[in-house]
Amino acid sequence: MSKKLIFKEDIESLVKKAALDFDVYFPARDSSGDCQFVRFSEEKKNLPKLCLDYDNLIIPPKSIFFPQIERMFTFKKGMAVENTQPHHLLPKLIFGIRACDLRGLQFSDVFFKRNFADKYYLGRIKNRLTVLVGCTKPLRENKCFCVSAKTGPFLEKDFDLQFTDLGRSYFVEAGSKEGERFLKKYKNFFKDSGKEDSLLTVEIKKKASESITLRVDFFGAIKKLMKGGLPQENYQRIGERCIYCAGCLYVCPTCTCFNVFDYKDGRLRNWDACIFEGYTREASTHNPRVEKWQRTARRYEHKLKYDYQTTGMSGCVGCGRCLESCPVNIGISKFIQEITENKKIM
Ligand code: SF4
Ligand code: SF4
Repeated sequence: MSKKLIFKEDIESLVKKAALDFDVYFPARDSSGDCQFVRFSEEKKNLPKLCLDYDNLIIPPKSIFFPQIERMFTFKKGMAVENTQPHHLLPKLIFGIRACDLRGLQFSDVFFKRNFADKYYLGRIKNRLTVLVGCTKPLRENKCFCVSAKTGPFLEKDFDLQFTDLGRSYFVEAGSKEGERFLKKYKNFFKDSGKEDSLLTVEIKKKASESITLRVDFFGAIKKLMKGGLPQENYQRIGERCIYCAGCLYVCPTCTCFNVFDYKDGRLRNWDACIFEGYTREASTHNPRVEKWQRTARRYEHKLKYDYQTTGMSGCVGCGRCLESCPVNIGISKFIQEITENKKIM
């Protein structure tokens, strides 16, 4: 696979050029200084400043493919008319995604075609191309644990293009045929790399991994849960403390719960959360998970056990957002530490 260089001053022109062929999304600072993915074509006249060295991205890029709220169809003259524009026609280019978030998208790709094909989501990912920019320092100090989950800070495979920050330039690796095609198509922006660039990249990746200091026994926790459920007390203690705000779920790159509801003009779906009591309440009013601890158990066991059993992928990618967003300091990394280190952390 090809290895190239791109100078930082050429990135903005590359993005603008690529926007002729792709529906481009990239991280840019908002008015509060936070970075969010923005869509280039909406901002054509005034390109917001690209921000590839961001140290935090509160909302994961799942929202590009799985919007917080979307119309599924509209009622017209008593008939349901499909929403024919649930996605933009051009393939999407996600420029500047982090390794853990790419793993999150790949998990969602599997989820949305696992039991039935979700045309809304799958329509949006068609011909998607991702440019991963590896983290050279942890995005969330003492909160992210991608090294333990084997989801970052760089990937060995399953990416289209991977960028490593070398200072003035990025080292660019192609990891798929689509990535190779991109390099070829926009070849004027990329330069040949030398052996010293490859060596420096190896060194930078090594240092980046070492800088992720939060290490947990991620696969030990999966193994433990696979062997059987945990005692109820483990979940009860977390459930008593959790205020069930769902912040941790909405910001989680792999959480995909949604609810569907009709209004007078059509049908919508929006993000939901499995820890809400109403999520599993049935029409008969029976609720199989009426107790808080049962919903807590479901959340953790789903991510670390059932997802792994059914897809071979964990429903947690170690991004640390849940711990960062929780007002009462609960996070899946702490849960993993508690069950693998046999000590009370939360
Ligand atoms: S469970 Fe927490 S650490 Fe894991 S992917 Fe979701 S937000 Fe990130
Ligand atoms: S963010 Fe914290 S308090 Fe809110 S639902 Fe998640 S674990 Fe509970």
